[in-house]
Amino acid sequence: MSDDCIFCSIISGDIPGRVVAETDDALAFLDANPLAPGHALVVPKAHTERLADLGADESRAVFDLVHDLVPDVEAAVDADGLNVGINDGEAAGQEVPHVHVHLVPRFESDGGSP
Ligand code: 5GP
Ligand code: ZN
Repeated sequence: MSDDCIFCSIISGDIPGRVVAETDDALAFLDANPLAPGHALVVPKAHTERLADLGADESRAVFDLVHDLVPDVEAAVDADGLNVGINDGEAAGQEVPHVHVHLVPRFESDGGSP
């Protein structure tokens, strides 16, 4: 837990998050500024800034939850696909320094471009 990390505050319950799934080591919640309806984030519960710093167990927990959630998120908003991605590092656009995987529902009407 990092005191000044917004995602740690959601994990601890100090600030509200719209949680969609939880396991022992990972949490999924809706993005506050969604790129599309149903845009969800999957995070390790342990504060970790970069993907390469995740331990093997935490990594498995995060990606297992991503794998489980993909069909659920897609069905929940009747999407036709999802973009699943990570901005790893500030230079890559990472704004919140706590590893998170974006699940962004996509629709045929989007036109297919990222
Ligand atoms: P990044 O650019 O770091 O990959 O993405 C950070 C994401 O976190 C953004 O999509 C942003 O909308 C989301 N976000 C930032 N602050 C909050 C917050 O307080 N609550 C939630 N649920 N999402 C947040
Ligand atoms: Zn954190």
